Amino acid sequence: MCGIVAYIGHREAYPVILKGLKRLEYRGYDSAGVALLNDGLKVFKKKGMVADLEESLIGENLHAHSGIGHTRWATHGEPSDRNAHPHQSSNGKLAMIHNGIIENYTQLKNELQKKGYQFKSDTDTEVLLNFIEDIQKNNQCGLEEAVRIALKRVVGAYVIVLIDQDHPDTLIAARKGSPLVIGVGKGEHFLASDASPIIEYTKEVVYVNDYELAILKPDELILKNLGNEKITPFIQKLDLELAAIEKGGYDHFMLKEIFEQPDTIFDCLRGRLDIHKGTITMAGVQNHMEKLMHANRIIIVACGTSWHAGLIAEYVFEELCRVPVEVEYASEFRYRNPVIRQGDVIIAISQSGETADTIVAIEKAREQGAFIFGVVNVVGSSIARISDAGAYTHAGPEIGVASTKAFTAQLAVLTMIALKIAKEKKTISEERYLQLLNEMHEIPEKLREILPLNEQIRALAEKHKDAKDALYLGRGYNFPVALEGALKLKEISYIHAEGYAAAEMKHGPIALVDEQLPVVFVATRDSYHEKIISNIQEIKARKGKIIAVISEGDEVIPMMAPDIMRVPNADELVAPMLSVIPLQLFAYHIGVAKGYNVDKPRNLAKSVTVE
Ligand code: GLU
Repeated sequence: MCGIVAYIGHREAYPVILKGLKRLEYRGYDSAGVALLNDGLKVFKKKGMVADLEESLIGENLHAHSGIGHTRWATHGEPSDRNAHPHQSSNGKLAMIHNGIIENYTQLKNELQKKGYQFKSDTDTEVLLNFIEDIQKNNQCGLEEAVRIALKRVVGAYVIVLIDQDHPDTLIAARKGSPLVIGVGKGEHFLASDASPIIEYTKEVVYVNDYELAILKPDELILKNLGNEKITPFIQKLDLELAAIEKGGYDHFMLKEIFEQPDTIFDCLRGRLDIHKGTITMAGVQNHMEKLMHANRIIIVACGTSWHAGLIAEYVFEELCRVPVEVEYASEFRYRNPVIRQGDVIIAISQSGETADTIVAIEKAREQGAFIFGVVNVVGSSIARISDAGAYTHAGPEIGVASTKAFTAQLAVLTMIALKIAKEKKTISEERYLQLLNEMHEIPEKLREILPLNEQIRALAEKHKDAKDALYLGRGYNFPVALEGALKLKEISYIHAEGYAAAEMKHGPIALVDEQLPVVFVATRDSYHEKIISNIQEIKARKGKIIAVISEGDEVIPMMAPDIMRVPNADELVAPMLSVIPLQLFAYHIGVAKGYNVDKPRNLAKSVTVE
């Protein structure tokens, strides 16, 4: 959600910023803009794609060695040229980009309007910028001091980056609640919302923390807190290759990422799961085993696809660890008055590690004494840093907005955590433990066997692409898989889809079934198999169009449903990692068949950094 790129150094700033904005496109946005400093400040911005901005700038003099760029995901004011960032301050000397929301902007705006300020946009961003300009004027202070004073009054979440016409050798940035990474080069600095615009220039990065201010010159980086005390920047080496964020011959990132799953799960298990020794090595779990083992309760907080991974983890933890588990939408949890006690463990799941609602839910639970365990994909992200302990999913960068490989990697990590705790608690037998270790070990190979279904699923998608609605049904471990399948279809193909527990269908959704409605059953062989066969019969009797994900060797369901997708047999506890794959492909191919931009579905953002 929203992308920020800035540069100061010896290179031409515009190409670096433009390429960086393209790398951040996956995050979701509606307009783009740049401000360049050379002989005065030039601001260019436009509603639409980065490519539209680029085209509109052909022939312009874009020479500059410092600049800031932005892709906006509108929160205050419609997507338009005038609301796009960067914004310029009233006296025209400052330009600023902003990711986030300034919650008390109305109050600040009223104060400024009384002083005669006029606003060119509807954004909260322009208000903050003029507020900074006003402080500079009243206090006769430098920009750095003015930003510090302003931020003490600001309520909300932000990353801001400012460029000042009177000080062309300096960029000033600050963050609270939205992501910001600094790339440290030789005689140059980069700023971005994540590392992807930076890695082709430098692998040395500094993650800026909340309430920190960065003052950047080509060969100097100063970090300070809002109390004006210097902080030593902690430079980290990026473990990321450029190829990982490029399409590599696939038509879309989403397809590439679906196909990467045998490797991402392999990477996720590598160095952790050892079937010969019968061990799972996870320092984040091992070092906090006492807390995890004796948890009174586990509360999983997450949003979207990560919430579905949490629902599956609920079944897994309860089964293996015999501990009560609750799964919460972070956005509800943070505003409720939840009962949290010492001894409760929060597992926070987020691909980006920057999900605004999940971050606040963590803070709320921590205040009340809970122990926080983070399961995130992006290394060094906010949730990784604020958790007491955690485990990375190691799925690599996920660019497609609709999550695929991050979901299966979350399941792999959560299952390993549960297995490790269960072994320590002795809530499962040694035999079952070793059997499940083996089942996990086999997942990458089984995933590889599913991928050749791609063509068959493409044909199936072609057949069903004109559906107006769809119902997804599953039971047990496959119930959340049905929810996830429905979500994928909605996100990518804009077809209304609902996931339901198959038996619950009789309590309402069955009224929707007619000869037009595709009903997708996630019906791999498990302890509920006979039951779900009955549910399929019920839909068949009402002439619904049945599509089913089934196990190899199942000869019963194909007699009822012509449209089937077969996946290898697996223990029901790990089966979701397999049964979700055909549903990812089905949604992908319907989206493509309908001509939609599957990597960047309308209105969606990859990393939801505003609430
Ligand atoms: N709240 C700002 C706006 O609406 C920034 C949105 C963003 O994060 O892109 O312009």
